[in-house]
Amino acid sequence: MKIIKSIQELRDTLKTFRREGKTIGLVPTMGALHRGHASLIDASSARADITVVSVFVNPIQFGKNEDLDKYPRRLEADSELANAHGASIIFAPTAEEMYPNGEPETYVRNKPLESLYCGSYRPGHFRGVLTVVAKLFLICLPDFAFFGEKDYQQVFLIEEMVRTLNFPVEIVRVPIVREESGLALSSRNEYLSEEERKNALSIHQGLLAAKSAYLAGERSVTKLRNLVIQPILLNRGSVQYVEIVSTSTLEKKVGHLGNEKLVILLAAFFGKTRLIDNIELEMV
Ligand code: AMP
Repeated sequence: MKIIKSIQELRDTLKTFRREGKTIGLVPTMGALHRGHASLIDASSARADITVVSVFVNPIQFGKNEDLDKYPRRLEADSELANAHGASIIFAPTAEEMYPNGEPETYVRNKPLESLYCGSYRPGHFRGVLTVVAKLFLICLPDFAFFGEKDYQQVFLIEEMVRTLNFPVEIVRVPIVREESGLALSSRNEYLSEEERKNALSIHQGLLAAKSAYLAGERSVTKLRNLVIQPILLNRGSVQYVEIVSTSTLEKKVGHLGNEKLVILLAAFFGKTRLIDNIELEMV
């Protein structure tokens, strides 16, 4: 496995592979890789001949008071994990390589969706994500790109970008990987104290409670949201948002739920750590 830091070198390397008729899978990450990322790399290795894992803590998707500086960085351990799961290349550019003029002049945005849910609490976040992913797509020209459903709004926005801008890439969604306890794996779990980590299990417990109630016939948005919110509050968490939304449009649901595919999206704080999670409500 090769570690490449330069855009030009990556382009040249991938061009050679493409000429040999090899397919390319891209797994964009911010590093601090865990089993969640590993399942994306596994999915890519199974589907594409060459898997590129990008490791880049993208400054333009962080807000001013967010955790850009303290975000965990450990390229050596990341390389080992990526290699063990079949990656051929780690692309680890510097911020200067990706944004030579600092703040970019050109952004990719999704005006209606970028300010909903996570976007309403993280202004500028999704334009930062879409812009870096568009750059990575144009640098790598992958056949497939793999994204986790843990970041549900993110993968939805990326699919929208690919559809509306006609990127020649197939987006593959990978299900959420959880600890046995139910906590969704996240690089940010490292910030949690032992007690916060225990309390944070209430996120998945609440989501499961709401899903069971839904499957048993509950259709009140208020009641279902409360089933998610209560356990979090009882465990000293604070809820940033909990919304039930359509999986096909991300439109927020109110009142009584009809017959469509839905997902509960949420963000909650335990101590200073912000965690996101979601659960799909299967149709009955
Ligand atoms: P990040 O490094 O947090 O930006 O995540 C990079 C990719 O890994 C994104 O597509 C995430 O959705 C995905 N990912 C992160 N955590 C998980 C998880 N627990 N299960 C599945 N995918 C994940």
